[in-house]
Parts: sequence; C-alpha cells; structure tokens
Amino acid sequence: MTTALITHPDGFNHSTPPGHPEQVARLDAVLGALEGMDLLRLKAPMAAEADLLRVHPKSYLDGLREDLPEHGRRQLDADTWLSPGSLGAAWRAAGAAIRAVDAVLGGEAANAFCAMRPPGHHAETETAMGFCLLGNVAAAAKHALDHHGLSRVAIIDFDVHHGNGTQDLVEDDPRILFCSTHEMPLYPGTGDPSDTGPHGTVVNVALRAGCDGAGMLAALEEKVSPRVVAHRPELILVSAGFDAHRDDPLAGLMLEAEDFARVTARICDLAADLCSGRVVSALEGGYDLEALGASAAAHVRILEERGR
Ligand SMILES: [Zn+2]
Repeated sequence: MTTALITHPDGFNHSTPPGHPEQVARLDAVLGALEGMDLLRLKAPMAAEADLLRVHPKSYLDGLREDLPEHGRRQLDADTWLSPGSLGAAWRAAGAAIRAVDAVLGGEAANAFCAMRPPGHHAETETAMGFCLLGNVAAAAKHALDHHGLSRVAIIDFDVHHGNGTQDLVEDDPRILFCSTHEMPLYPGTGDPSDTGPHGTVVNVALRAGCDGAGMLAALEEKVSPRVVAHRPELILVSAGFDAHRDDPLAGLMLEAEDFARVTARICDLAADLCSGRVVSALEGGYDLEALGASAAAHVRILEERGR
C-alpha cells in the first residue's frame, strides 16, 4: 500500500492580488517539497454537483458561478477573491478530497494527502470567507458517509485558525466528530471551547499565542484523542493547515516543521487503532512559503511511512 498525493495544475489558476498570503506560490512550495517522495500521484477531478450539494445549497454554488469574473478579480469579502480560474481550482480542491476518500476506502491507497488550493475550512454553508470557497473536507466527510456507507467519521483540524466553515457544514450531523485546535483570540473569532455543537460532536480546543509543539501535542492528547477514540470513526479526515508554524505571518503559535510530524504520527496512531490506518488529509493554511514546504513534507513523510 501507499500514500496518495492528489493535486491538479488548476490549483495554480486561482489568482489573488499581489501581496495576498493565500498565493499561487503556496502550491509550488508544497509540491516542490514533496518531489522525489514515493507517492501514488493522482489528478484531482472536479467535484460532482451532488457531492457539493451535501454541504452547500444550489443557490450558493450558482451564486459563485454568477460572481465569477471573466477577467481581473472580484472581491467577495475582506480577504476572499475570485479570479477567472478560481472555480476550476475550488471544484478540484473539493474533488481532490472526495477522490482521496475513494482511494482510501477503495483500497487504492492506505492514506492520502490533497495538495490543492483554495483551502476550504472557513467556507460556511452560504458564505465564502477566509480565502475559502467550498467546504472541501466537509464534502469529503459527507461523501464517505452517504456514498460509501460509513457510519461514523472524525475530522481533526490542526490549522491555526478555527475551522468555522467545517463546523457549520457538519455540526448538525452526529455521525461526524469535528475537532479543531486553534489559536484564540484569532480570526475568525469563533471556536470557543464552550461551543460543542447541537449534538455535542464539536470539540473546540483553544490555544494561547506562544503555544509550542509540546503544548499542541498535549492538547491533542488530552482533549482530542479521547473524543476520537470514543467516537469510533471508520475514517479520519484531517484539515492540515501549517500556519501554526512559528514563522507564519498570520498567527502566533510556535510549532516547528518537525512538530507537524509528531502531530501527524499521533493522528496516524489513532487511525491505526480505530480504522485500519485510514487517513485523508487536505491542505488548508500555511503562509510562510519555506515553513509551509518543510511542514507539509514532514506531514506527508509520516503518512508515507505509516502507509507502507
Ligand atoms: Zn489558517
């Protein structure tokens, strides 16, 4: 068995204004760092409409299509933009996560990493925000449940920002345990630990600025792992943002690249115990290009070791 790497050149066609942190060069940094690794390389398909309709209403998807500029860019909120290639990229970013679920549940790969942009975990049911257009990981989780017939899945979001969008898309579904570790206070301002969702299947873990890898691992061990074990997921999905790195310009946590290897190893341990090692991970944030490449490589290296 092997680790699948799912990507597509359309990820380069989502163009943000000069100086925007969620830039085309991020995908180069990630793919460059994974070059030479022994991975099953798969092309990300466009997400099927039916897969997206599990998490977004048709009116929202149509609205994005109507807003798409023919040239130049259109601004959707303070930091979220559309360029002519944005929907191709976004549909393939969601399609990558869905394809990854198919690869892992179909036995094609032991686990998978999706290197695509734009990220997805801030996109709410009817609102694009925080650089995100579609709920990539949420759509993949629903696909695992509704298409593949799984009964329970868990999502672990270690991006430095709260995964408000994913929470919005999945909190009504008690088959999905959603765990987010994030710096607080920080954008988008949600994710207080008291917010556990309507079914108690949301686990929000707040970390203080300055928290390092040991602090992150302790939070994972004490607050996330026991809930994942109790949920008995048949698949673990990961929102892999690397902006908790100490060099990241958007946040104040102090992880090193190797800390992402340790976090990944802990997630893989859980998956080995609970669901035959099945992990589907998708890129979210990470805005210092060098730190992003090194952190993504550390993450995928552990997936690859565990997927053999
Ligand atoms: Zn982030």
